Amino acid sequence: MSKDRLTTVLESWEAVIGLEIHTELTSLNTKMFCGCPVQFGGESNTRVCPVCLGMPGALPVPNESAVEATILAGLALDCRISRWSQFHRKNYFYPDMPKDYQISQYDLPFCVGGGVNVEIDGDGCAQRLDRAAVGADPDGTYTTRIGITRIHLEEDTGKMVHVGGSEGRIAGATHSLVDFNRAGTALMELVSEPEIRTPEEARRFAQKVRLVFLTLGVSDCNMEEGSMRVDANVSLRRRGDIEFGVKAEVKNMNSFKALHDALAYEILRQGDVLDAGGTIDQETRHWDAGKKRTSSLRSKEYAHDYRYFPEPDMVPFTFDDEYIDRLRARLPELPDARGSRYMAEYGLPKHDAAVLSGDLELGDYFEQVVEGVGVPLARAAANLVLGDFSAYLNAAGSTPTDADVGPRKLARLIQLVDDGTISGKQAKEVFAEMVATGEKPRQIIDRLGMRQVSDSGAIEEVVDRVLASNAAQVAEYRAGKHGLLGFFVGAVMREMGGQANPAVVNEILHARLDA
Ligand code: ADP
Ligand code: ZN
Ligand code: MG
Repeated sequence: MSKDRLTTVLESWEAVIGLEIHTELTSLNTKMFCGCPVQFGGESNTRVCPVCLGMPGALPVPNESAVEATILAGLALDCRISRWSQFHRKNYFYPDMPKDYQISQYDLPFCVGGGVNVEIDGDGCAQRLDRAAVGADPDGTYTTRIGITRIHLEEDTGKMVHVGGSEGRIAGATHSLVDFNRAGTALMELVSEPEIRTPEEARRFAQKVRLVFLTLGVSDCNMEEGSMRVDANVSLRRRGDIEFGVKAEVKNMNSFKALHDALAYEILRQGDVLDAGGTIDQETRHWDAGKKRTSSLRSKEYAHDYRYFPEPDMVPFTFDDEYIDRLRARLPELPDARGSRYMAEYGLPKHDAAVLSGDLELGDYFEQVVEGVGVPLARAAANLVLGDFSAYLNAAGSTPTDADVGPRKLARLIQLVDDGTISGKQAKEVFAEMVATGEKPRQIIDRLGMRQVSDSGAIEEVVDRVLASNAAQVAEYRAGKHGLLGFFVGAVMREMGGQANPAVVNEILHARLDA
């Protein structure tokens, strides 16, 4: 799908996007209303009890930790916490929902309002055509705040398994089985305002929410295993119009790339329909990652079909200030604050701070390196973590936690450059060896006989020799061709097998040449 076509459609149509993000609270030991364990997979129908199987008369008992996790999420995302809230029954029949209703929240969710700032940089900026209106920098980079409507708590359904025919697919299956292991798992639903305008903003918003939830430790947010599921609502309106168009809801994206691509596809599809004078049906569509297109799944049910009523087996919740303050005190440092701290305390450029604080593991790793080298070397630590270390992670398909090179060894390497033992260039070589052999930097330096020569006597000798045998270039330099300095530095470095301290070489060359 070409980016140009997307831009063309977006020139006449503005996309309006709202996300619904379901997150299983996988950090909890037990389900939402019973004591069954929460764990992905396992033999079908072994993690069940009368409550999560919906046996008549079984009574739900709310999981206190799930309520706390949801309120923490609300506080982290600037929501207001309702002083009074309760669970409702949402009535509908689906074979993977044993009670024939889902305990959810309706008009009294735990968290309302709120929002997150989303930074857009790189290629994705181009999708936002009214960049000036959002105060974009000259390079296109901009920040936009996406409102959150609500965060509520509900219980997850079981899973259908379609068998016979082609395995796992409804079409051609001869029969269906149901696994209730997941039924009753605490599920947090976040609904965004329809304030997202591009597929890239949708992707960044979802990534930011995920990062906040990971920071809080409430879920593993694994999109592939379905512990975080993002549904995207999208409609188009003519640029300049105020009223929204009819939306389609797209489901089944199991990665951020899929979320982005499904939205881009859906914008093109709706643009074509509208340009041809057609109308959009309000419906749920399914993203097919293989075919890279959405297709109609079912026409949309409306909220009033669900016949919500207050769950009679549970009393309403009242949260007082003291309870909310106690939870607020438990909030860890959040990603935005972390990024600001990297800039203020470590003097990192905005982009570097954003990348490091934008990945929980990478940020943790970086901080462990800083702990090892001290704050004055934090910038050097950031450069190495974002440079060679990140390149190695990409190449190895590894994560900071699983990396073969731990933060202590990386800190040691930075110190060895800082104290002049080796040059920055040699450090690259040592790092490659650390990855390859797992050795400590010191061992590698000894094994390879690497030493950086900082002794000015030794360097002076070589400098003098180089200048003597390049008299013509020396004359040119002195006549004003100062670009030749690099030539002299290179010659000295070559003579010394790359082991001379470049700063000292520069200093001595300047002293000799500019004398
Ligand atoms: P529904 O009742 O169909 O579920 P909601 O009002 O609950 O719709 O909104 C669901 C999501 O769809 C929210 O994220 C909301 O921001 C978004 N949304 C609502 N209307 C539109 C629209 N016209 N276009 C795009 N997104 C929309
Ligand atoms: Zn149970
Ligand atoms: Mg809804």
